Amino acid sequence: MPNCLNALEREENLKILNHEKFDLLIIGGGITGAGVALEAAQRGMKVALIEMQDFAAGTSSRSTKLIHGGLRYLKQLELKLVMETGRERAIAHKNAPHLVHPEKLLLPMIKGGSLGKFTTSLALWVYDVLAGVKGDDKKRMLSKKEILEIQDDLNKDVVIGGGIYAEYRTDDARLCLAVLKTAANKGTVAMNYVKADKFIYSNKKICAVECVDQLNGKKISIKANAFVNAAGPWVDKVREKDDSLNNKQLFLTKGIHLVIDSKKLKLEHACYFELNDGRMIFAIPREEKLYIGTTDTTYEGDIKNPQVNQKDVDYILNGLNHMFPKAEIKTTDIVSTWAGLRPLINEKGKSPSEISRKDEIFESKSGLFTIAGGKLTAYRKMAERTLNYIQKANRLKLKKGNTKNCKLIGAIDNPITIIDKLKEKGINKNWAKYLWQRYGSESIKIINNCKKSDDAALIVSELEYCIKNESTHNLIDFLSQRTSRTLFYPESIDCNIEILAAIAQQLLNWDESKKNIEVHKVREYMKAMITFA
Ligand SMILES: Cc1cc2nc3c(=O)[nH]c(=O)nc-3n(C[C@H](O)[C@H](O)[C@H](O)COP(=O)(O)OP(=O)(O)OC[C@H]3O[C@@H](n4cnc5c(N)ncnc54)[C@H](O)[C@@H]3O)c2cc1C
Repeated sequence: MPNCLNALEREENLKILNHEKFDLLIIGGGITGAGVALEAAQRGMKVALIEMQDFAAGTSSRSTKLIHGGLRYLKQLELKLVMETGRERAIAHKNAPHLVHPEKLLLPMIKGGSLGKFTTSLALWVYDVLAGVKGDDKKRMLSKKEILEIQDDLNKDVVIGGGIYAEYRTDDARLCLAVLKTAANKGTVAMNYVKADKFIYSNKKICAVECVDQLNGKKISIKANAFVNAAGPWVDKVREKDDSLNNKQLFLTKGIHLVIDSKKLKLEHACYFELNDGRMIFAIPREEKLYIGTTDTTYEGDIKNPQVNQKDVDYILNGLNHMFPKAEIKTTDIVSTWAGLRPLINEKGKSPSEISRKDEIFESKSGLFTIAGGKLTAYRKMAERTLNYIQKANRLKLKKGNTKNCKLIGAIDNPITIIDKLKEKGINKNWAKYLWQRYGSESIKIINNCKKSDDAALIVSELEYCIKNESTHNLIDFLSQRTSRTLFYPESIDCNIEILAAIAQQLLNWDESKKNIEVHKVREYMKAMITFA
């Protein structure tokens, strides 16, 4: 059986998709589709998943990268959502400690803001209770003096005190990949760059999907007994193909993030603070950078390529500089950015920030199950609900899923052992941490394949691993979804691009012209990230 995530075995895997019949075909390789694939595989189903771009290239690599309960949803009295996402945090951490890291968040209260001392204390207490937070992780209220002792460059004229509470930080795209790899390990055939183009019907029920290989334009047809539409911001486009759009439709909102060097603003903790318009934004340290976001604006443009514009930049920088006036962050300090689309379910009369982040399942007459809305944090529960729904609707007898106790590929309880092993092999501390936080125990494979322990040899081995184990077909996917170097190490790209291109050329059989095109694409991609219309 070929490894479906080995880019070098793509032809064999496409043949399997084309010839075999599956219990379930999932359209969409973001976190929602990946979660459904793992849950279905755990329940013993024969599963296929297709993604028209790279895995996680949609919203699932463009979030705030928090596994969080969503403190602000308390304001909207979304207690059930906060309880579920709050509790999922600990499960996500237990099952993937290399990808989901505890992070304390500082919550400053400001003069005239919506968070008073009493409401903040109550909100954080309710948050801890709903999420079942225990021990040292429980919230703590801070006086003005205490919060300024922790972060002395907060704006002293506006901050009146605050709180500190627990959340988790993640790498959204890598979490999605880890879920997919775990599902693939349990038999799922997951392939990127395969687009669902047309539904095929028998007695008015969907029996197959005609797909187009996005790498060479060839058509294949995938047969299955059940079909899930997990296409995120595209779910309505997929429902249109099935002629099954109902009155509940998506409402897309754009959220952007800016990345600056952490030397420009050094934060002791991630910070969640209120702006003059009452919205809250995050400033989160990661590796040698700090990222700030997000916005929440109605979106009607190209779904594949939402862009950060100057208005977004000004909004975030004004808010940041108001809270940290000494930092004086300017547009020219931005080293990278990203923009993502929230696939929300429309609620007439509500503003973007008021619309619920709840998920919902729609079943069409033709048997297409659409899972829409939701949060990265809730992916596991969303998958459970989807499978329960399908099981009931199609009267299936399946095993229990139990993804609650399913460790993801790369998970190991004690990170120190891996970091020590890497160091024993002569890998420096920064590389050891970098690899651990992306690949967990799989880092060892990257190191064992490495001829030397210098930067060039390590990045080459990392690319080889990603091509052979994570369906990496081009340099942008490697530098963005696989490694987030485009966002957090943009300065490392120029000096490594030629050596990476040479390895990709050799392994993926590119001719010289294809290699040059791929290098050019990376350079254009990097430029576009910091060019604002
Ligand atoms: C700015 C922002 C910040 C956020 N922050 C957080 C956060 O911190 N924590 C949190 O829990 N949640 C957060 N979210 C929400 C979270 O990111 C999303 O709920 C989640 O990523 C959606 O995943 P998805 O799989 O449904 O969609 P996507 O990741 O978009 O995946 C859908 C996939 O379907 C594919 N597809 C579409 N059509 C087809 C087709 N015809 N054939 C094959 N494939 C197809 C697309 O290419 C896409 O990759 C945030 C969202 C945004 C926008």
